[in-house]
Amino acid sequence: MTDGMRPEGALADISGRSGRDAVVIGGGLAGITAALALADAGVRVTLIEGRPRLGGLAFSFQRGDLTIDNGQHVYLRCCTAYRWFLDRIEGTALAPLQDRLDVPVLDVARPEGRRLGRLRRDALPVPLHLGRSLATYPHLSLAERAGVGRAALALKGLDLADPTLDTQDFGSWLAAHGQSARAVEALWDLVGVATLNAVAGDASLGLAAMVFKTGLLSDPGAADIGWAHVPLGDLHDRLARKALDSAGVRIEVRTRVTSISNDENGRLRVQVPGETLPADTVVLAVAQREAYDLLPDGALDAPEQLLEIGTAPILNVHVVYDRKVLSRPFFAALGTPVQWVFDRTDASGLRDGQYLALSQSAARDEIDEPVAELRERYLPELERLLPRARGAEVKDFFVTRERTATFAPTPGVGRLRPGARTKVPGLYLAGAWTATGWPATMESAVRSGVSAADAALSALGRPRPSHLFDVEEAA
Ligand SMILES: Cc1cc2nc3c(=O)[nH]c(=O)nc-3n(C[C@H](O)[C@H](O)[C@H](O)COP(=O)(O)OP(=O)(O)OC[C@H]3O[C@@H](n4cnc5c(N)ncnc54)[C@H](O)[C@@H]3O)c2cc1C
Repeated sequence: MTDGMRPEGALADISGRSGRDAVVIGGGLAGITAALALADAGVRVTLIEGRPRLGGLAFSFQRGDLTIDNGQHVYLRCCTAYRWFLDRIEGTALAPLQDRLDVPVLDVARPEGRRLGRLRRDALPVPLHLGRSLATYPHLSLAERAGVGRAALALKGLDLADPTLDTQDFGSWLAAHGQSARAVEALWDLVGVATLNAVAGDASLGLAAMVFKTGLLSDPGAADIGWAHVPLGDLHDRLARKALDSAGVRIEVRTRVTSISNDENGRLRVQVPGETLPADTVVLAVAQREAYDLLPDGALDAPEQLLEIGTAPILNVHVVYDRKVLSRPFFAALGTPVQWVFDRTDASGLRDGQYLALSQSAARDEIDEPVAELRERYLPELERLLPRARGAEVKDFFVTRERTATFAPTPGVGRLRPGARTKVPGLYLAGAWTATGWPATMESAVRSGVSAADAALSALGRPRPSHLFDVEEAA
């Protein structure tokens, strides 16, 4: 193998033990989950990842003394599968949830100056839990607030199982339900762009309804926000490896799978440079385009549909100041290109000053812009938002660009997303882009990994581990 850690041919010993050997391709959250679930059920698992680390799209890297995340990640209390994953890798305490939803929303486009609003919940049943916050939300007029309430109730009435929802766009639905451009900007897109990675007009009504119904209209605490207070790599690489090691999973990083085929006995064969790995079960947990390239002929009825699933970028802008300029852990912004700002000082290991990460979703127009232009745009915007930034020195400014951060949640995408099973016996698909019903999130990735492992275990006739997250029950 290519990581230099294992002797040549070390993987060959998995051959010859029929019925219990699995290869999971892709060490993102979907692949890690599938590997853990299969190993917990007593299957011998090899996890193969092309990069030098696990974690896929949610990872950290070093920049000087600082540990930087490629992109700010948050999850909600309703993300039950990702929460299960955090528990399974013993990472829950490192990525805590807010006690109660509280999002500061700062508007800098008002003639009277900056104005802070809050999206909070009370300890009341749904939908009253958001009533007081909405009634006092200063970024909407009285009529707009009442209109938002009516649209929320209409959204609550939508049947998520209705396939026609996926053929419509959320923006048109909001307009048809009386939502002004301001209500879309200051409320629906504020939440929707960050969770769907698309503005309402570009998003499937089915996916948007799923997010808003599950997050805001199911359980009072469903939208409480959680995020890693450590670098993402501490969770998705370090702790995930520890859990995989203890479950007996063999991990091979820096190893790219080049093909998957059947041998003459109907067993699967996974090709990596210099070696062929035989397997009874293969979980292909890579992005949709790479899955298309690796799927053997006949695995899906219409494999070309995978190429029709679009992608959407996320840009993160990182600014290190010589002093503290923000006293909250995070906030969302209106009336400025800035979307969400997080304080990553402690997580990054910065000792002096403050490090802010700006998470800019649906960033198609900016994703390829030179750093100098982004700097010229974003530093003055931060000064508008944070008066203390005006006198502060910028010690470092850099950006991270994820051009294919998520699949594009466009209307019609639902029919393109395949489930876990393929037509090749023993071969399963996983990945946030598969048919989980969720947008491209960590939650979707973990759910897909569980679904793939469930399908594989049922085909192998092996009982599922009792502690494994139950996709059906929780959906
Ligand atoms: C900047 C950014 C911000 C985000 N913010 C959020 C957020 O706030 N909340 C949230 O829930 N989600 C967020 N997401 C989305 C979330 O990160 C992804 O949905 C999730 O991590 C996808 O996991 P996955 O396992 O499906 O795929 P991936 O993470 O893409 O994993 C696939 C893995 O397969 C490997 N691979 C590919 N080809 C091969 C091969 N031939 N051989 C071996 N290995 C291979 C890749 O290297 C990769 O590691 C964000 C994503 C980005 C990029």
